[in-house]
Amino acid sequence: MGNRVNRMIWNLEAETMPREEKKRLQLQRMQLVFKRAYHSLPFYRRSFEAKSVKPEDLKSLEDLSNFPFTLKTDLRDNYPFGLFATPMSKIIRLHASSGTTGKPVVGAYTRNDLDLWSEVMARSYGAAGVDEGDMVHNAYGYGLFTGGMGFHYGAERIGATVVPVAGGLTKRQVMLWQDFKPTVLTCTPSFALVLAETAAEMGINPVTDLNLRVGMFGAEPWTEQMRHEIESKLGLEAFNQYGLTELIGPGVSCECPNHNGMHIQDDHFYPEIIDPATGEVLDYGQTGELVFTSLTKEAFPVIRYRTRDITSLDPEPCSCGRTTMRMNRITGRSDDMLIVRGVNVFPSQIEGVILTNKAVAPVYLIVVDRVRNLDQIEVQVEAAEAVYHMGEEMLLEISNQLQQELVQTLGISAKVVVVPPRSIARSEGKAKRVLDRRNLHN
Ligand code: AMP
Ligand code: ZN
Repeated sequence: MGNRVNRMIWNLEAETMPREEKKRLQLQRMQLVFKRAYHSLPFYRRSFEAKSVKPEDLKSLEDLSNFPFTLKTDLRDNYPFGLFATPMSKIIRLHASSGTTGKPVVGAYTRNDLDLWSEVMARSYGAAGVDEGDMVHNAYGYGLFTGGMGFHYGAERIGATVVPVAGGLTKRQVMLWQDFKPTVLTCTPSFALVLAETAAEMGINPVTDLNLRVGMFGAEPWTEQMRHEIESKLGLEAFNQYGLTELIGPGVSCECPNHNGMHIQDDHFYPEIIDPATGEVLDYGQTGELVFTSLTKEAFPVIRYRTRDITSLDPEPCSCGRTTMRMNRITGRSDDMLIVRGVNVFPSQIEGVILTNKAVAPVYLIVVDRVRNLDQIEVQVEAAEAVYHMGEEMLLEISNQLQQELVQTLGISAKVVVVPPRSIARSEGKAKRVLDRRNLHN
């Protein structure tokens, strides 16, 4: 339960636990998870056997690296309910990932799991300085997607007033901002910019006319450049939020006011970083694929789940008082890394370059094509309103500038096309930033 002495740290005991004590707790919990998974789920029994390991072989946290990974394809193969460790009668909620291709990942929750979810979300709100005097305008999608309900129940747990707006109807959302005067906005970062744009169209300046003070954004990759855009347009402090359906939804990790990485709720989710090519565990500070083992979840435990998200870990205690492990901003996914003429590049790196140029708006689409066996990238980016009216020549000059910046900063040659304002489709939830046409031809 939360404490009233220091509301900024919701769960003082868990979030400031000395590392050695935390490690003992993690090992104890992990041993239980391994036993339960091995004895109740044929999938884990088989994958343990394939590596000739048994739950009893986990004698220290270092032993974890001897155990098998779980992949997204394993979840797919056991779709929909094959990896649930409790009888269906104990499961009181299902969610599903927002993946657009193939079968989704299904998340299952017992009553205790839902309680845990509210708890970790309450910690996220606490870290962002949100308290019971606040009003939360929740514009994450409600439904199968975990965003809406995760942020909703967390806000109720801390005692804030939550307005369950969900996506869509952007003008109405801005009207609610004016009338209700919420202090906190929760949604995807791309949707925050859509709302900012709508406010501007309606002649409202969020910085002077509204009360927004905190934004809690996540569920999709975004950059520091994007953070600056959102903060300056909406007049709030933006906090990065990370999570995934496979683990619980949002609430896995969150930023504190230091904005120096996201604090992982590591009494419930145990992180590792591995080399995505070899599976070898990497040291703190090294960049690789994030892997998680759930430590307390009942309905849907996961062991060494490969998230495909690329980042690094920082074990240093933070000056905010939290001792939890921090993960850095996700720089990409190992499965959406683009290889352009031998150079590896993530969409977020392209975003970082184009958003530093003030002549364009923070709305873009990366189109990948394969022409005569060579990957070609075209970056479409919207001109800023004022710049667009300066004419064709100006737009050409900007696209040349951007092309050069991409070569100089990332070493990639991409074609940049500056397109008219508002010509790229907006999204209510996760933005679609990459259009991959390569499979269409093969
Ligand atoms: P889903 O479970 O379908 O909502 O998607 C989870 C995935 O969204 C994660 O594995 C990440 O790839 C991505 N994601 C969630 N939060 C963030 C974040 N703060 N930054 C970057 N990517 C994120
Ligand atoms: Zn901190």
